[in-house]
Amino acid sequence: MIELFWLLLPVAATSGWLVAKGYYRRYLTPTNSKSMDAQYFQGLNYLLNEQSDKALDLFVNLSDINQDTLDLHLALGSLFRRKGEVDRAIAIHQNLLSRQNLPLTLKDQCLLELAQDYLKAGLLDRAERIFVDLRQSSSLSAPALLGLLEVYQREKEWLRAIHTAQAYEKLSGDSQATNIAHYYCELASQAMILGEKNEVLKQLKMALLTDPGCARANLIQSQLEIKQGNYKIATQLLLNIIDQDPAFLGEVIDPLILCVEKQGKISGLVNKLSGLVNKYSSNKSVALFSQFLQKYQSTENAIALIESHLEESPSALGLKRYLELSIVNAKPEQKNYMEKLLIIVNGLIQQTMAYRCEQCGFAARAIHWQCPSCNAWGSVKPL
Ligand SMILES: [Zn+2]
Repeated sequence: MIELFWLLLPVAATSGWLVAKGYYRRYLTPTNSKSMDAQYFQGLNYLLNEQSDKALDLFVNLSDINQDTLDLHLALGSLFRRKGEVDRAIAIHQNLLSRQNLPLTLKDQCLLELAQDYLKAGLLDRAERIFVDLRQSSSLSAPALLGLLEVYQREKEWLRAIHTAQAYEKLSGDSQATNIAHYYCELASQAMILGEKNEVLKQLKMALLTDPGCARANLIQSQLEIKQGNYKIATQLLLNIIDQDPAFLGEVIDPLILCVEKQGKISGLVNKLSGLVNKYSSNKSVALFSQFLQKYQSTENAIALIESHLEESPSALGLKRYLELSIVNAKPEQKNYMEKLLIIVNGLIQQTMAYRCEQCGFAARAIHWQCPSCNAWGSVKPL
Protein backbone atom coordinates (compact mmCIF):
# COMPACT_ATOMS: atom_id res chain seq x y z
CA MET A 1 0.00 0.00 0.00
CA ILE A 2 2.85 2.38 0.85
CA GLU A 3 4.49 1.65 -2.54
CA LEU A 4 1.22 2.44 -4.29
CA PHE A 5 1.00 5.73 -2.43
CA TRP A 6 4.42 6.81 -3.72
CA LEU A 7 3.60 5.67 -7.25
CA LEU A 8 0.46 7.76 -7.24
CA LEU A 9 2.08 10.88 -5.84
CA PRO A 10 3.23 12.25 -9.23
CA VAL A 11 -0.13 11.47 -10.76
CA ALA A 12 -1.83 13.20 -7.86
CA ALA A 13 0.40 16.21 -8.49
CA THR A 14 -0.69 16.17 -12.14
CA SER A 15 -4.27 15.93 -11.01
CA GLY A 16 -3.77 18.97 -8.74
CA TRP A 17 -2.29 20.78 -11.69
CA LEU A 18 -5.43 19.98 -13.66
CA VAL A 19 -7.50 21.61 -10.91
CA ALA A 20 -5.31 24.70 -11.01
CA LYS A 21 -5.69 24.90 -14.77
CA GLY A 22 -9.47 24.70 -14.52
CA TYR A 23 -9.84 21.35 -16.21
CA TYR A 24 -12.34 20.02 -13.71
CA ARG A 25 -14.42 23.20 -14.01
CA ARG A 26 -14.35 23.02 -17.78
CA TYR A 27 -15.15 19.34 -17.67
CA LEU A 28 -18.23 19.98 -15.51
CA THR A 29 -19.31 22.84 -17.73
CA PRO A 30 -20.56 21.65 -21.13
CA THR A 31 -18.34 23.18 -23.79
CA ASN A 32 -17.22 22.33 -27.32
CA SER A 33 -14.11 20.79 -25.83
CA LYS A 34 -16.07 18.31 -23.73
CA SER A 35 -14.90 15.39 -25.82
CA MET A 36 -11.29 16.53 -25.54
CA ASP A 37 -11.55 16.89 -21.76
CA ALA A 38 -13.02 13.40 -21.54
CA GLN A 39 -10.06 12.05 -23.43
CA TYR A 40 -7.65 13.76 -21.07
CA PHE A 41 -9.45 12.28 -18.09
CA GLN A 42 -9.39 8.85 -19.72
CA GLY A 43 -5.63 9.28 -20.08
CA LEU A 44 -5.35 10.30 -16.43
CA ASN A 45 -7.36 7.24 -15.48
CA TYR A 46 -4.93 5.02 -17.36
CA LEU A 47 -2.06 6.63 -15.45
CA LEU A 48 -3.78 6.08 -12.13
CA ASN A 49 -4.21 2.43 -13.04
CA GLU A 50 -0.57 2.11 -14.10
CA GLN A 51 -1.57 1.51 -17.73
CA SER A 52 1.23 3.65 -19.13
CA ASP A 53 1.08 2.19 -22.67
CA LYS A 54 -2.62 3.04 -23.06
CA ALA A 55 -2.05 6.50 -21.57
CA LEU A 56 0.83 7.12 -23.97
CA ASP A 57 -1.17 6.01 -27.02
CA LEU A 58 -4.03 8.26 -26.05
CA PHE A 59 -1.93 11.37 -25.44
CA VAL A 60 0.22 11.13 -28.57
CA ASN A 61 -2.88 10.64 -30.73
CA LEU A 62 -4.75 13.67 -29.44
CA SER A 63 -5.26 16.04 -32.30
CA ASP A 64 -5.74 19.28 -30.36
CA ILE A 65 -2.86 20.65 -28.35
CA ASN A 66 -3.00 24.24 -27.12
CA GLN A 67 -0.97 26.21 -24.58
CA ASP A 68 -2.73 24.61 -21.59
CA THR A 69 -2.61 21.07 -22.86
CA LEU A 70 0.99 21.51 -23.97
CA ASP A 71 1.93 22.14 -20.33
CA LEU A 72 0.12 18.94 -19.42
CA HIS A 73 2.04 16.98 -22.05
CA LEU A 74 5.32 18.41 -20.74
CA ALA A 75 4.33 17.44 -17.19
CA LEU A 76 3.50 13.92 -18.36
CA GLY A 77 6.80 13.59 -20.22
CA SER A 78 8.65 14.71 -17.10
CA LEU A 79 6.61 12.24 -15.02
CA PHE A 80 7.52 9.34 -17.33
CA ARG A 81 11.21 10.35 -17.20
CA ARG A 82 11.26 10.52 -13.40
CA LYS A 83 9.67 7.07 -13.23
CA GLY A 84 12.45 5.75 -15.48
CA GLU A 85 10.08 5.24 -18.44
CA VAL A 86 12.40 7.16 -20.75
CA ASP A 87 11.08 5.66 -24.00
CA ARG A 88 7.62 7.00 -23.18
CA ALA A 89 9.01 10.41 -22.22
CA ILE A 90 10.85 10.57 -25.57
CA ALA A 91 7.67 9.58 -27.43
CA ILE A 92 5.68 12.37 -25.72
CA HIS A 93 8.29 15.03 -26.48
CA GLN A 94 8.95 13.90 -30.06
CA ASN A 95 5.21 13.92 -30.66
CA LEU A 96 4.99 17.53 -29.47
CA LEU A 97 7.89 18.54 -31.69
CA SER A 98 6.21 16.98 -34.73
CA ARG A 99 3.22 19.34 -34.34
CA GLN A 100 2.84 22.06 -36.93
CA ASN A 101 2.93 25.73 -35.93
CA LEU A 102 4.51 25.13 -32.54
CA PRO A 103 5.80 28.57 -31.43
CA LEU A 104 9.60 28.82 -31.23
CA THR A 105 9.73 29.36 -27.45
CA LEU A 106 7.55 26.29 -26.85
CA LYS A 107 9.60 24.28 -29.34
CA ASP A 108 12.76 25.15 -27.39
CA GLN A 109 11.07 24.05 -24.15
CA CYS A 110 10.13 20.72 -25.75
CA LEU A 111 13.68 20.31 -27.07
CA LEU A 112 15.11 20.90 -23.59
CA GLU A 113 12.85 18.18 -22.20
CA LEU A 114 13.82 15.81 -25.02
CA ALA A 115 17.51 16.46 -24.33
CA GLN A 116 16.91 15.60 -20.65
CA ASP A 117 15.28 12.35 -21.81
CA TYR A 118 18.32 11.50 -23.95
CA LEU A 119 20.59 12.33 -21.00
CA LYS A 120 18.63 9.98 -18.76
CA ALA A 121 18.72 7.28 -21.46
CA GLY A 122 22.51 7.66 -21.82
CA LEU A 123 22.19 8.93 -25.41
CA LEU A 124 24.83 11.57 -24.73
CA ASP A 125 25.61 12.60 -28.34
CA ARG A 126 21.95 13.37 -29.05
CA ALA A 127 21.57 15.25 -25.76
CA GLU A 128 24.75 17.24 -26.42
CA ARG A 129 23.61 18.37 -29.89
CA ILE A 130 20.35 19.79 -28.50
CA PHE A 131 21.98 21.44 -25.47
CA VAL A 132 24.57 23.09 -27.75
CA ASP A 133 21.78 24.58 -29.90
CA LEU A 134 19.81 25.73 -26.85
CA ARG A 135 22.82 27.53 -25.39
CA GLN A 136 21.92 30.37 -27.74
CA SER A 137 18.34 30.55 -26.42
CA SER A 138 17.87 33.61 -24.22
CA SER A 139 15.59 31.92 -21.68
CA LEU A 140 17.00 28.37 -21.69
CA SER A 141 20.71 29.08 -21.86
CA ALA A 142 21.31 28.28 -18.14
CA PRO A 143 19.57 24.86 -18.05
CA ALA A 144 21.18 24.02 -21.42
CA LEU A 145 24.64 24.77 -19.98
CA LEU A 146 23.89 22.61 -16.93
CA GLY A 147 22.76 19.81 -19.25
CA LEU A 148 25.98 20.15 -21.28
CA LEU A 149 28.00 20.08 -18.07
CA GLU A 150 26.34 16.78 -17.15
CA VAL A 151 27.14 15.38 -20.61
CA TYR A 152 30.83 16.37 -20.45
CA GLN A 153 31.23 15.02 -16.91
CA ARG A 154 29.81 11.66 -17.96
CA GLU A 155 32.05 11.63 -21.05
CA LYS A 156 35.03 12.68 -18.90
CA GLU A 157 35.60 15.59 -21.30
CA TRP A 158 37.14 17.69 -18.55
CA LEU A 159 38.41 20.60 -20.63
CA ARG A 160 34.96 21.08 -22.14
CA ALA A 161 33.45 20.75 -18.67
CA ILE A 162 35.73 23.56 -17.45
CA HIS A 163 34.71 25.91 -20.27
CA THR A 164 31.02 25.08 -19.81
CA ALA A 165 31.15 25.58 -16.03
CA GLN A 166 32.91 28.93 -16.56
CA ALA A 167 30.18 29.98 -19.02
CA TYR A 168 27.46 28.92 -16.56
CA GLU A 169 29.18 30.78 -13.71
CA LYS A 170 29.36 33.93 -15.83
CA LEU A 171 25.70 33.64 -16.82
CA SER A 172 24.19 32.66 -13.46
CA GLY A 173 26.61 34.18 -10.94
CA ASP A 174 26.74 30.82 -9.10
CA SER A 175 30.33 29.98 -8.18
CA GLN A 176 31.60 26.83 -9.89
CA ALA A 177 35.09 27.08 -8.35
CA THR A 178 34.89 23.78 -6.42
CA ASN A 179 33.70 21.85 -9.48
CA ILE A 180 36.19 23.45 -11.86
CA ALA A 181 39.09 22.73 -9.48
CA HIS A 182 38.07 19.05 -9.48
CA TYR A 183 37.94 19.04 -13.31
CA TYR A 184 41.56 20.30 -13.33
CA CYS A 185 42.40 17.52 -10.84
CA GLU A 186 40.82 14.98 -13.20
CA LEU A 187 43.06 16.31 -16.01
CA ALA A 188 46.05 16.07 -13.65
CA SER A 189 45.17 12.46 -12.82
CA GLN A 190 44.98 11.61 -16.53
CA ALA A 191 48.40 13.23 -17.09
CA MET A 192 49.77 11.33 -14.07
CA ILE A 193 48.81 8.00 -15.67
CA LEU A 194 50.70 9.09 -18.82
CA GLY A 195 53.73 10.08 -16.72
CA GLU A 196 53.61 13.71 -17.86
CA LYS A 197 54.84 15.48 -14.73
CA ASN A 198 54.86 19.00 -16.15
CA GLU A 199 51.27 18.60 -17.32
CA VAL A 200 50.25 17.26 -13.89
CA LEU A 201 51.81 20.28 -12.16
CA LYS A 202 50.25 22.69 -14.66
CA GLN A 203 46.73 21.33 -14.08
CA LEU A 204 47.16 21.24 -10.30
CA LYS A 205 48.34 24.85 -10.32
CA MET A 206 45.16 25.78 -12.18
CA ALA A 207 43.08 23.81 -9.66
CA LEU A 208 44.58 25.72 -6.73
CA LEU A 209 44.30 29.06 -8.53
CA THR A 210 40.62 28.32 -9.09
CA ASP A 211 39.97 26.99 -5.59
CA PRO A 212 42.78 27.50 -3.02
CA GLY A 213 40.92 25.13 -0.68
CA CYS A 214 41.23 22.17 -3.09
CA ALA A 215 42.90 19.56 -0.85
CA ARG A 216 42.73 17.00 -3.67
CA ALA A 217 45.22 19.03 -5.76
CA ASN A 218 47.86 18.93 -2.99
CA LEU A 219 47.12 15.24 -2.37
CA ILE A 220 47.78 14.37 -6.04
CA GLN A 221 51.00 16.41 -6.10
CA SER A 222 52.19 14.83 -2.83
CA GLN A 223 51.70 11.37 -4.40
CA LEU A 224 53.72 12.48 -7.42
CA GLU A 225 56.54 13.90 -5.28
CA ILE A 226 56.67 10.75 -3.09
CA LYS A 227 56.88 8.62 -6.23
CA GLN A 228 59.88 10.71 -7.36
CA GLY A 229 61.57 10.70 -3.94
CA ASN A 230 60.99 14.40 -3.25
CA TYR A 231 60.02 13.81 0.38
CA LYS A 232 60.69 17.35 1.64
CA ILE A 233 58.29 18.88 -0.92
CA ALA A 234 55.75 16.11 -0.25
CA THR A 235 55.90 16.78 3.51
CA GLN A 236 54.99 20.44 3.00
CA LEU A 237 52.17 19.54 0.62
CA LEU A 238 50.71 17.04 3.11
CA LEU A 239 50.86 19.63 5.89
CA ASN A 240 49.11 22.09 3.55
CA ILE A 241 46.25 19.60 3.15
CA ILE A 242 45.64 19.58 6.93
CA ASP A 243 45.48 23.39 6.84
CA GLN A 244 43.05 23.26 3.90
CA ASP A 245 40.78 20.62 5.40
CA PRO A 246 41.55 19.03 8.80
CA ALA A 247 39.06 16.23 7.95
CA PHE A 248 41.84 14.77 5.77
CA LEU A 249 44.30 14.31 8.66
CA GLY A 250 43.59 10.57 8.75
CA GLU A 251 44.29 10.38 4.99
CA VAL A 252 47.68 12.12 5.10
CA ILE A 253 49.16 10.90 8.37
CA ASP A 254 50.55 7.66 6.88
CA PRO A 255 52.34 9.29 3.89
CA LEU A 256 53.48 12.09 6.22
CA ILE A 257 55.17 9.56 8.52
CA LEU A 258 56.73 7.88 5.47
CA CYS A 259 58.14 11.21 4.21
CA VAL A 260 59.65 12.13 7.57
CA GLU A 261 61.10 8.64 8.05
CA LYS A 262 62.76 8.93 4.64
CA GLN A 263 64.28 12.27 5.68
CA GLY A 264 65.38 10.89 9.09
CA LYS A 265 63.67 13.70 11.01
CA ILE A 266 61.48 11.64 13.31
CA SER A 267 61.94 13.65 16.52
CA GLY A 268 60.59 16.82 14.97
CA LEU A 269 57.48 15.04 13.79
CA VAL A 270 56.41 13.58 17.15
CA ASN A 271 55.48 16.96 18.62
CA LYS A 272 54.01 18.17 15.35
CA LEU A 273 51.79 15.11 14.86
CA SER A 274 50.87 14.95 18.53
CA GLY A 275 49.61 18.54 18.34
CA LEU A 276 47.67 17.88 15.12
CA VAL A 277 46.10 14.66 16.40
CA ASN A 278 45.03 16.37 19.64
CA LYS A 279 43.60 19.31 17.73
CA TYR A 280 41.83 17.41 14.94
CA SER A 281 41.45 13.99 16.55
CA SER A 282 39.74 11.44 14.36
CA ASN A 283 39.59 7.70 14.96
CA LYS A 284 41.75 6.97 11.95
CA SER A 285 44.43 9.58 12.72
CA VAL A 286 44.65 8.46 16.37
CA ALA A 287 44.94 4.80 15.32
CA LEU A 288 47.70 5.62 12.81
CA PHE A 289 49.58 7.91 15.21
CA SER A 290 49.48 5.19 17.89
CA GLN A 291 51.39 2.92 15.48
CA PHE A 292 53.96 5.68 15.10
CA LEU A 293 54.30 6.07 18.89
CA GLN A 294 54.63 2.32 19.35
CA LYS A 295 57.44 2.23 16.81
CA TYR A 296 59.42 5.31 17.90
CA GLN A 297 58.51 5.72 21.60
CA SER A 298 56.87 2.90 23.53
CA THR A 299 53.84 0.60 23.53
CA GLU A 300 52.78 2.20 26.84
CA ASN A 301 52.63 5.68 25.25
CA ALA A 302 50.61 4.28 22.35
CA ILE A 303 48.16 2.57 24.74
CA ALA A 304 47.82 5.78 26.78
CA LEU A 305 46.89 7.73 23.62
CA ILE A 306 44.29 5.15 22.57
CA GLU A 307 42.81 4.90 26.08
CA SER A 308 42.28 8.64 26.40
CA HIS A 309 40.77 8.85 22.90
CA LEU A 310 38.48 5.85 23.43
CA GLU A 311 37.01 7.47 26.53
CA GLU A 312 36.15 10.62 24.57
CA SER A 313 35.20 8.95 21.29
CA PRO A 314 34.43 5.19 21.45
CA SER A 315 34.97 3.44 18.13
CA ALA A 316 35.56 -0.01 16.68
CA LEU A 317 38.82 1.22 15.10
CA GLY A 318 40.06 2.54 18.46
CA LEU A 319 39.08 -0.70 20.20
CA LYS A 320 40.93 -2.71 17.56
CA ARG A 321 44.12 -0.73 18.13
CA TYR A 322 43.69 -1.03 21.90
CA LEU A 323 43.42 -4.81 21.61
CA GLU A 324 46.37 -5.02 19.18
CA LEU A 325 48.57 -3.02 21.55
CA SER A 326 47.41 -4.74 24.73
CA ILE A 327 47.74 -8.28 23.37
CA VAL A 328 51.54 -7.87 23.11
CA ASN A 329 52.04 -8.03 26.90
CA ALA A 330 48.89 -10.03 27.76
CA LYS A 331 49.04 -13.27 29.75
CA PRO A 332 48.59 -16.47 27.70
CA GLU A 333 45.07 -17.13 29.06
CA GLN A 334 44.05 -13.56 28.10
CA LYS A 335 45.51 -13.75 24.58
CA ASN A 336 43.06 -16.36 23.35
CA TYR A 337 40.14 -14.27 24.59
CA MET A 338 41.53 -11.04 23.07
CA GLU A 339 42.18 -12.70 19.71
CA LYS A 340 38.52 -13.72 19.51
CA LEU A 341 37.51 -10.16 20.34
CA LEU A 342 39.79 -8.87 17.57
CA ILE A 343 38.03 -11.08 15.01
CA ILE A 344 34.67 -9.64 16.09
CA VAL A 345 35.92 -6.03 16.02
CA ASN A 346 37.45 -6.53 12.57
CA GLY A 347 34.07 -7.77 11.38
CA LEU A 348 32.46 -4.60 12.75
CA ILE A 349 35.04 -2.41 10.99
CA GLN A 350 34.34 -4.17 7.68
CA GLN A 351 30.72 -2.99 7.98
CA THR A 352 31.64 0.56 8.95
CA MET A 353 31.48 3.32 6.37
CA ALA A 354 34.51 5.59 6.55
CA TYR A 355 33.24 8.44 4.36
CA ARG A 356 30.02 10.40 4.14
CA CYS A 357 28.64 13.03 1.75
CA GLU A 358 28.02 16.29 3.61
CA GLN A 359 25.24 17.18 1.18
CA CYS A 360 23.11 14.05 0.85
CA GLY A 361 24.42 11.70 3.56
CA PHE A 362 25.64 9.03 1.09
CA ALA A 363 28.03 6.71 2.97
CA ALA A 364 30.97 4.84 1.43
CA ARG A 365 34.00 2.77 2.36
CA ALA A 366 36.31 4.64 -0.04
CA ILE A 367 36.74 8.29 -0.98
CA HIS A 368 34.66 9.55 -3.93
CA TRP A 369 35.65 12.97 -5.25
CA GLN A 370 32.21 13.24 -6.88
CA CYS A 371 29.34 11.89 -4.79
CA PRO A 372 27.72 8.96 -6.68
CA SER A 373 24.37 9.84 -5.14
CA CYS A 374 23.95 13.64 -5.47
CA ASN A 375 26.84 14.25 -7.97
CA ALA A 376 28.31 17.05 -5.83
CA TRP A 377 32.09 17.49 -6.06
CA GLY A 378 34.27 17.45 -2.94
CA SER A 379 31.32 16.78 -0.63
CA VAL A 380 32.32 13.24 0.45
CA LYS A 381 34.55 13.60 3.53
CA PRO A 382 36.28 11.19 5.91
CA LEU A 383 34.12 10.59 8.96
ZN1 LIG B 1 25.97 13.35 -2.01
